[in-house]
This record gives sequence, structure tokens and C-alpha cells, in this order.
Amino acid sequence: MSAKATVCDGHAHLGTEEERRFRERENIPTMVCAGDEKEAAELAGLSGSWLVKAYGLHPWKASLEGLTAMEPWLEQARIIGEIGLDSVWCQVDETVQRQVFERQLALAFAGGKPVVLHVKGREREAAELIRRYPNTYLVHWYSDLKWLELYLEQDCFFTVGPDVAKNPAVQQVARMADISRLMVETDGLGAVRWALGENIPLEGIPAVLSESARWIAAEKKMEPQAVLERLEENFWRFVGDEE
Ligand SMILES: [Zn+2]
Repeated sequence: MSAKATVCDGHAHLGTEEERRFRERENIPTMVCAGDEKEAAELAGLSGSWLVKAYGLHPWKASLEGLTAMEPWLEQARIIGEIGLDSVWCQVDETVQRQVFERQLALAFAGGKPVVLHVKGREREAAELIRRYPNTYLVHWYSDLKWLELYLEQDCFFTVGPDVAKNPAVQQVARMADISRLMVETDGLGAVRWALGENIPLEGIPAVLSESARWIAAEKKMEPQAVLERLEENFWRFVGDEE
């Protein structure tokens, strides 16, 4: 591990080739989630020391056929995600979402594979569901003021979303979760632009991550450098590459 802490991106997507090349050049360790079988095939073809791969059928794309197509990828994945429940940003049938989510939780549990969660609008239900499958969970960009304690008590990891400076629910995560359970994330450049403005350049990715880390440092009354070190440690611990 380098003496100087590296800013890790705990949650992103494939993005453009340009974005991936930037991450490689800047050496930003990044967990990239493939959300369906098409993305999975693309992700599988990529390599680089910056890249940590996760595979999971995203709730926006949940269907039983999609799950069957995704299963070979889930079998070979080391990390499952992002998977979950969402009643706010998609129209996908809630029962189907739940079936697809639970099947993937069971598979991850059986394989002892850590899981990345996407929960929106169904935070309470998802928290009760994961209780049946004790595992290592990372809740990405948690943004509900309620139900956070249901995840805290299950010892989940959290990636603090890029809108932490203006979102009280995200600030609450930075405040309430233990420093040993925190990471920062962009959710990819597209999400950063959606949350913070279209004018954010590709080169702004490291600054977005460091800003979130600075916010955590303020909440925890810790030195920013010490926080960066902890975030990096947490990233590698979650992905199972402890050095
Ligand atoms: Zn995402």
C-alpha cells in the first residue's frame, strides 16, 4: 500500500472509454458495477489494477428472464451488485424487483460474496430482507433520513454520495456510520453531473471524491489525510484485497 493515501471510488459504472482511461491514468481504484448481462460482458473484457468488478442485476432492469441471463455472471463474480429495491426512480413491478433481489441475496450469501445495495423508497423493506442473509453489505449513496439505523445495526459499509455538501440525508450517513465503514463514491461521472451540475469536467472526479472525504473529516473531527487513509483501507477490506 502506498505511503500516501489514494482516493478510491467506492461506486461507479462503466462510463465512457474516456472516463475509464482517466481513472486508469490517475490511478483511482474504482468499484465498477455491471447492472445487466450486456454490461457484464463489457466489464468482463476490461482489466487494470484500478478496476474492481461487481456484477448484479440492477433493480431498474429487474426481470426473471434478465436474472436467468445474469446468473452465469453472478456465479463467477467476486462481488454482487448493485442490487436492491427502488420505488422512486423506476416503474419496474415491485414483486418482480423483490424476487430478483432476494434470489441474488441468496446466491451471494451461499457464495460468501459481499453485496452492493441500491435502495430507494423501499429502505425499510430492503433492510428487513437482508437480515435474512447475513453478509457483508455496502449501501451505496444512502439518501433517506429514515431507516438508516436498520443498516447501521447490521454493520453495513456505506459509500457517501457526491451531493453530501447539500443533502442532509447523505450528511447523516457521514455522521452516523463508523469511520471503519465509510467510503466515498461518484456513481460515475454521469451521476456527478446529474447531482452537482453538467459543467463538472472529467478531471473533476478526484476533487469530488476528496470533497466528500473532507466532509467526513469535518463530521468526525479528524484530519483529512487520516480520513483518506481510512477510506482506502475500508475500500480494500470490503473488496477482500486486504494488504
Ligand atoms: Zn450506481
